[in-house]
Amino acid sequence: MIYEDVKNLFKEIPPNVEILAAAKGQSAEKILQAVEAGIKLIGENYIQEAQQAHNIVGGRARWHFIGHLQKNKVKKAVQIFDMIETVDSLEIAVDIDKECGEIGKIMPVLIEINCAQEPQKYGAMPDKAPALIEAISKLEHMKIQGLMTMGPASKDAQRMQQYFAKTRQLYDKIKGLGIKDVEMRYLSMGMSDSYKIAIKEGANIIRLGTKIFGKRDSE
Ligand SMILES: *Cc1c(COP(=O)(O)O)cnc(C)c1O
Repeated sequence: MIYEDVKNLFKEIPPNVEILAAAKGQSAEKILQAVEAGIKLIGENYIQEAQQAHNIVGGRARWHFIGHLQKNKVKKAVQIFDMIETVDSLEIAVDIDKECGEIGKIMPVLIEINCAQEPQKYGAMPDKAPALIEAISKLEHMKIQGLMTMGPASKDAQRMQQYFAKTRQLYDKIKGLGIKDVEMRYLSMGMSDSYKIAIKEGANIIRLGTKIFGKRDSE
């Protein structure tokens, strides 16, 4: 019932919020059903999976990379994706910039924030983010357009809210810095069990997997 579920989502979600379908583990056929129901953004975590789905679904949607990008996958990633949401170090940014230079592309990116400062998690620490963004902004073949966060692994709504609010504050702060060539236009946060809170805290991209496709087989 992907089609019905997506139609109902569009009734529920404010029009300024974009729904990204987090498609890890889903077939191209299921992704197409979501696209036919009105989904315009597809999120993929793995390059090989993304490539297979992209071959079939292609330009009917825009493709966002939402996984952790490894250096040896950057070349493929910049060919497939319209945005990389998970840039969290200058090293990976430099690699993306170089590969985009090779193919004459300017890649829109979001900076991933480790908002709960969890040591085992990816993402830039909030207090390091402004300097990182300043450094990345100087790269020619990428354009910073906002922030992304996963939020803490928590079922506690109050805890989620606190960290989404913190990410929003950082977003506003960076906007206020007025760094040249940096836009704060997208705030990507909230998943199937937290998107309502995330929207209240200012998210304008929400990333939904289970809510659209049902429970993943692997879980
Ligand atoms: C899988 C995934 C999601 C969606 O998770 P659900 O809980 O199934 O909605 C969102 N963001 C990222 C980065 C993901 O990997």
